[in-house]
Amino acid sequence: MDFDEDKIDDYTLALLYLVTHDRHEGFGARAWKGFDWDTMNRLHEKGYLLNPVGTAKSVGMSEEGFLRDRELFERYFARKATVEPLPKLTVEARKRWGQIPEQDRIVFLDNVWCGECHTGASMQLCEGKISGRLLVLSGTCKKCGGKVARVIEPEE
Ligand SMILES: [Zn+2]
Repeated sequence: MDFDEDKIDDYTLALLYLVTHDRHEGFGARAWKGFDWDTMNRLHEKGYLLNPVGTAKSVGMSEEGFLRDRELFERYFARKATVEPLPKLTVEARKRWGQIPEQDRIVFLDNVWCGECHTGASMQLCEGKISGRLLVLSGTCKKCGGKVARVIEPEE
């Protein structure tokens, strides 16, 4: 089997984060070394690990190694908050919003002023309500995450 050793090195280094201990800021850390020997030796050659040869059950990790270890761990394994919550619209707001043609709804959401970005932006719709005769939509700017709102007047 032909495999990408650099990729294995990166994933192994990332997994080492789970077995890292004795972290000393600026001076690396130690990690249990129960991983594939060839990989551990390559990580040593790359400067991330100290020499893994020896009877100790753990291996020293350079400061550079620890920082990359932590970065890769986050990159590969952090649970990302990508699930967008469904917008909460009041019954009346949902009715009014539903009466607007879909194309127009997209245009409304894609043309919101963001005070943080100081520019037009797209809104991630979070809430909607009727205020007087107006449909008031609020949500977050897709660029910066700041709060944005959009007021839509009734068509007459
Ligand atoms: Zn913004």
